[in-house]
Amino acid sequence: MKSYRKELWFHVPQRRGLVNITRQVQQAVDESGVKEGLVLVNAMNITASVFINDDESGLHHDFEVWLEGLAPEKPYSRYRHNGFEDNADAHLKRTIMGRESVVAITEGKLDFGTWEQIFYYEFDGKRDKHVLVKIIGE
Ligand code: ZN
Repeated sequence: MKSYRKELWFHVPQRRGLVNITRQVQQAVDESGVKEGLVLVNAMNITASVFINDDESGLHHDFEVWLEGLAPEKPYSRYRHNGFEDNADAHLKRTIMGRESVVAITEGKLDFGTWEQIFYYEFDGKRDKHVLVKIIGE
């Protein structure tokens, strides 16, 4: 069995932002040489998510509105976590959107359902953060 590890680094200039990382994950699969296996993609920070959904701007806006309704960024004083930090909402949003995604690799390609794409979702940006890509298979 082969295994391959890669880190993808991001610096989202705003507090929140979505990045389609599908091409970078497929590139890691290409580099691994794995033809049949699994790829795990997880955010290495507790205020960011990796998730799979449609690359459609209306839906991305809907995610933003939905998450702000569930865990509004402001007022910062509404959260106990916000003493030294102001990112309690980011921790909550990350929990809802999830830590990681796993995708099957078939014949060297990400084996997606219709319209599936992999996204990095930043909830507390303006700094460097990274995502782990771990590939196992043959
Ligand atoms: Zn925090």
